[in-house]
Amino acid sequence: MLLVIPKVMNFVPKPIILGHELSGSVIQIHPESNNRDLLDKRVVVEPGVYCNECEQCLNGRRNICSNIKGLGLHFDGGMAEYVKFNVDYIHKSPQNYPLM
Ligand SMILES: [Zn+2]
Repeated sequence: MLLVIPKVMNFVPKPIILGHELSGSVIQIHPESNNRDLLDKRVVVEPGVYCNECEQCLNGRRNICSNIKGLGLHFDGGMAEYVKFNVDYIHKSPQNYPLM
């Protein structure tokens, strides 16, 4: 059972797939992406999507973006068999690390 506190987390859409920390393997990349080297690699995903426009982002502090949106909080997260996500937030992990 999941308890979402209504007055604190009223931004969470329902239903939603949870999961903000994940790793996996890339099985498909958009044909126009420049990050083709991620294909078939083990990766980790940055869970926060940043605006790149606020003062914090412009000063290189994306982790405290004023408009940050969280994987598994503002939109479906990683507790799914497949996740579609912006390639800019996907990073190669050591290939011998186990997947979470
Ligand atoms: Zn920002």
